[in-house]
Amino acid sequence: MRIPFVLAATVALAAPVMAQTAAPAAAAVSAESTAASAAPVANLLLAPSALPLQYPPFDKIRDADIGPAIDQGMTEHLAEVAAIAGNPAAPTFDNTIVALERGGRTLGRATTLLMSLTGADANPARLKLQADYATKLAAHRDAIQLDPTLFARIESLYQRRASLGLGAQEQRLIERQYNQFLRAGAKLDEDGKARMKAINAEMAQLGARFNQNVLAEVNDSAVTVDSIDELKGLSDEQISAAASAAKERGLDGKYLIALLNTTGQPALAQLENRALRQRIYEASVVRGSRGNAYDNTSLVSRVVSLRAERAKLLGFATHADFVLKDETARNQQAVNGMLRQLAPAAVGAARREGAELQAIIDREQKAKQQPTFQLAAWDWSFYSEKLRAEKYGFDESQLKPYFEMKTVLENGVFYAAGQLYGLKFRQRHDLPVYHPDVLVYDVFNADGSQLAIFIADMYARPSKRGGAWMNAYVDQSGLMNQKPVVANHLNIPKPADGKPTLLTWDEVTTMFHEFGHALHGMFSNVKYPSMAGTKVPRDFVEYPSQVNEMWADWPSVLAHYAKHYKTGEPMPRALLDKVLAAKQFNQGFATTEYLSAASLDQRWHQLPLDQVPDADGVMAFEAKALREEGYDYDAVPPRYRTPYFSHIMGGYAAGYYAYVWSEVLDANTVQWFKANGGLKRELGDAFRAKLLSQGGSQDALTLFRGVVGHEPQIQPLLERRGLVIDKTRTAGKPQASTPQ
Ligand SMILES: [Zn+2]
Repeated sequence: MRIPFVLAATVALAAPVMAQTAAPAAAAVSAESTAASAAPVANLLLAPSALPLQYPPFDKIRDADIGPAIDQGMTEHLAEVAAIAGNPAAPTFDNTIVALERGGRTLGRATTLLMSLTGADANPARLKLQADYATKLAAHRDAIQLDPTLFARIESLYQRRASLGLGAQEQRLIERQYNQFLRAGAKLDEDGKARMKAINAEMAQLGARFNQNVLAEVNDSAVTVDSIDELKGLSDEQISAAASAAKERGLDGKYLIALLNTTGQPALAQLENRALRQRIYEASVVRGSRGNAYDNTSLVSRVVSLRAERAKLLGFATHADFVLKDETARNQQAVNGMLRQLAPAAVGAARREGAELQAIIDREQKAKQQPTFQLAAWDWSFYSEKLRAEKYGFDESQLKPYFEMKTVLENGVFYAAGQLYGLKFRQRHDLPVYHPDVLVYDVFNADGSQLAIFIADMYARPSKRGGAWMNAYVDQSGLMNQKPVVANHLNIPKPADGKPTLLTWDEVTTMFHEFGHALHGMFSNVKYPSMAGTKVPRDFVEYPSQVNEMWADWPSVLAHYAKHYKTGEPMPRALLDKVLAAKQFNQGFATTEYLSAASLDQRWHQLPLDQVPDADGVMAFEAKALREEGYDYDAVPPRYRTPYFSHIMGGYAAGYYAYVWSEVLDANTVQWFKANGGLKRELGDAFRAKLLSQGGSQDALTLFRGVVGHEPQIQPLLERRGLVIDKTRTAGKPQASTPQ
């Protein structure tokens, strides 16, 4: 499962007028000359950029400009909102709803830049700003969304929306703004509002403590190993890294295996010593549990209670229903329905995979004339690597010479977009960048008009956070006359000087994936900025990006970019066929560990307030929930257990299902493309017109149905993952389970 995601810029409400001509570009000087100069230096964040499409003047914005720009942005925004709320004229769509859309532009510009740079090129000053402003920005949002005078105007328009003579997009905008205020608590009485603020404040603190505990526990739980003999299977580099890690902790002569924040640990795939594998696994799964140094169970219990209380205050039965009302899933029954349909298929596939692994264990033990043992969770990756080698027998290093980074981008990713949508790309070198490795492209429509500017930031570096993501520096908006400036970020290791950058197959597909988000941002053709591009439900946003992955191995696209970086020879098809054949490998395991975590997330957030267990009951609740949802195969534990499941403490609470939900839409759409002829302009143009250009201006599932012509069906996803639905067995009513 691909987890890279789209980074949505969360700006308080959206963006205000500021005359284009106000940009004092000529007055700007560099930061270096500032110190020596007495002349005042313009803060370029205070006005729209004078560069093409309002591209950020990265070379002239100093870190010291960001805080003052956010401060001024909040002041301006509050004044704009006060003027809207205090307007003596009766509320109209223009003087209230559109005015709010225009508001907060300086704030939006400054926070977007700060969030983008803390992700792509962090430094201590930027990280401190991010931490310092988190609470101030939250209070800023509260001040606006809990303002009763402002809400009264929005509510009045909401009630009359059908009779105002507005278009569908305008009516939807009223509904969205009204809903946003409602969900923040705008309709509560004064006591309710006070309680809401207190809940939010406490949750912000608890969430931060949870994450600090997770981080501390990951470090604290590193496993100490006494002798090098136990490390058989690790590479020399890994062993020396483990030795230096131990030394840093004063454990000279020993070895330290660091943990990742997932249940599975990379070393388990390599370590031959079964007892050590078990020790690492057990250290991993007890993190954050009762009695541990960084016990998170009481925090989980409290946060789940507070969320349930908040949901109740707002009139929802559970936190899941509160969250899902705004997603395409709509309610917990729909999410449960899908998860419970998939669970038995995934667990069944995992059991079949487990039987193959058991056969290897039995065979090897027999050859060693030793008694066999039953496959356990700590054995899975070790034996699945053996099975992978037996079945597919290829080495990633054979592929890499055919995947040179810039060739993949320009002759693969861009080429596919040219074939499908008629886009043309031209690299430009005149615009400033925040890091010398960043590439900038103008993007043109088939008719030669400019569509967008695309920033490609591909290399890993210490200042960049992990993973891959897309974000917009400038959102498209007809109202504000803005074209998009969007960026893709990957973490490809940079080779030594003079060496080519050669990608793994996973990095190739990630590049296509992130560009799918970029297309969603660049093709946006809506009027209102709050509906632009990727501002769609979370369980929908991964859908266009996953669809774009299909072109990575489309024969004519592949033939166009997969060429040997030295000789230009095309990649032998047989080599790629091995890669593609391996796509379904271990999918029972991968799907089960993901789905069980997604179910756990739902079960926690579907609890009514009076049923939330206390700290002592947290792990028992987890075990019961997993069993009841049909995850009765102990060899495949959930990807995250409750006390270290950071997603559900943060923005993915009741939302971890979104990846597979989006993938259902993706698999249906891939099927639609294939059934209609694949890589063709007419199909690309239809997908663009009906879906990619629409942003959040229409109901997401309506857009989906408009393209593929039917409701989402689960079968294409099952086929892709090699899963089979057994109609005689459903989760929730598991058959007698086989103890493992
Ligand atoms: Zn994504």
